[in-house]
Order: sequence, then structure tokens, then C-alpha cells
Amino acid sequence: MSALRRMSSFLVASALVLTCGSPQAAQFELVILDDPGEGLNDPESRSPVGGNSGTTLGEQRQIVLEAAAARWAQVLDLSVDLQIGASFRELDCEPTSAVLGSAGPGVLVLNFPGAPEADTLYTAAQANTITGQNTLSSEQNHIFTQYNLRLDEGDSDCLGGNSWYYGLDGNPPSGQVPLFPVVLHELAHGLGFLTLVNLETGALPNNFNDAYTLFLRDTDLDKDWTEMSDAERAQSATNNPNVVWTGSAVDEQSGMLTNPGAFNNGLIRMHAPDKLSPGSSISHWTSDANPPLLMEPSLQQGVFNQLDLTPALFEDIGWPMSNGPIFQDRFEQSR
Ligand SMILES: [Zn+2]
Repeated sequence: MSALRRMSSFLVASALVLTCGSPQAAQFELVILDDPGEGLNDPESRSPVGGNSGTTLGEQRQIVLEAAAARWAQVLDLSVDLQIGASFRELDCEPTSAVLGSAGPGVLVLNFPGAPEADTLYTAAQANTITGQNTLSSEQNHIFTQYNLRLDEGDSDCLGGNSWYYGLDGNPPSGQVPLFPVVLHELAHGLGFLTLVNLETGALPNNFNDAYTLFLRDTDLDKDWTEMSDAERAQSATNNPNVVWTGSAVDEQSGMLTNPGAFNNGLIRMHAPDKLSPGSSISHWTSDANPPLLMEPSLQQGVFNQLDLTPALFEDIGWPMSNGPIFQDRFEQSR
């Protein structure tokens, strides 16, 4: 799963807004970017599956996206409605691996009233939640996200013929990939779980730090990413196992991980493989975590509705958090 940073070139034709969650509270709104009859609008008849009551393929897809967004709405203290522009598209798919989805923030904001740090880029989702004002135009969305249509095309050259599982119960049959955790993962990227640094050159976006990058450190170079030159950041991006997250909320929660290899100097490692993987490097936890985490670079067996360390990371970067079920939910395992 990769994080596409800017997807502002998306067409917003024939957008249909659906609401998710209770009517009074601020919530996520699903903005369907697929054409009529396609993707999230696919009219193919389907039997309800695993707690998903949808009776068409498109409806089942919408219900999964809405359910995942509603899960984030429980954890984050939303003050305004936030728009998620979503579609199903043909993404990369090979016999043994596939891009399941991608997402990123539609708009970035800095120096808004109440910004946790000055001269620092935040996702519009976070910034608007802090200010209580939706600053986007009707053509803009807070998050853009896409899911791979090819998994439902019956192509044995795509992930061995695996298809999407649209159930909400965490019990995907063999040969099916659960969409729900993939949406949870992708929405987290769109909410701010990503670096905006150009990892090939190390350059900061428009010479500003972003909220996520403030908490990256290289224990080998002995520097925070904010203290580095561009060349040092580019070097650090492939400097496994030395890139770590320094935020205190994650640090407090990271005792849930049982393997020493997930840590360096006592802090949880980030994904920094020797060969740079744009959209994947740095914007995920290490793939060595045990138990597996939602925000690893690839979907792990058994990960379904758990949020594990992700809310703590949001807390570190200054997201307003709900006082609700966040702590009791962090250690759930689906099976
Ligand atoms: Zn990802």
C-alpha cells in the first residue's frame, strides 16, 4: 500500500456525497469519484456478506469505505465534516503482489490559527478540525483515495486471482483480501500519516517541514530530520534500521510490541529499506513489528479493525483526539 502525496489532478465530475455516522456529529463524507455504473457505483448484484448488507458490488464497496471512515471518526475529535474523494481504479497488480490502495491529503495548510507548530505543513483535514472551519472549495476534498479494481476482475495474473472481501466481520475466506483494513490504512495516510519530503533528493516540501517529519530521527546520523541537510535526509531515507519515531505518545504505547527488532535506541523504527520505495519508505512503521501493525508497508495477516499505534501517532502530530473508545480499542486482534 503506498501513499500518493498529491492527487490534485483528479476529476471531480459526477460527485455524489454520502454521509457516514450519526446525523448531528461532524463526520466524514464519502465523495464518489467513479462514473455511473463503475467502481463504487457498480450495479452488479451481490449477496450480503459478513455483516455488509449491500446488495450490489458498488453498494458493498461504499459500505466498507463508510465503515472505515466511521471508525476514524470515533477516534478523532472532528469539528467539521471532512470530504473523502474515493474511487476504484486499475492499479498495479502482479502475480504475487499488488497495490491494494493509495491515498493522500488533497490540500496542505500552514500557519492556521491554533496550528501546533509554526511554518509547518498540516493536512487540511487536521487543520480544519483544529480551526473548526472547512476551508476547502466544493471542488476540493480533504483526502483522495483509490482502491484496486483489478482484484475483482478474475485475473489469475493479479495476486493469484485473489479478490476483495467486503465483509465487516474480519473473517475473509482463503483467497480474498479484506478491503476494510486497507481503507483504514489508506485513510490514515490521508489524515497525515506520511512524510511530504522528496525522499530521492531529501528536499522539504516548499522548504517547509511537515507535521510528520518533525518526529523522524536517524540514530546513526544522530540527527532529527529537521536538522538535516537535503543530502542527509536522502541518505537517511534508506538507512534501515536507524530511522525512528520520536513522538512521546507512540513511545508510551509502543510496549505493545514484543520484539526488540522493532526498536532502535528504544524508539520504534520506521520503514527505511536499502532500496528506496517511493510512497512506501518512511511513511510506514518497520515491517519487523510483532504483533503486526496497521501501518506497515504491506497488509499483514490477521490485521482487520485494529488501529494499534496509529492514534498515538496522530496524537503526537497534534490531531484533536476523542476521549472515547481509543484506548480500549488499540489492542484488538481480529482472529
Ligand atoms: Zn501505506
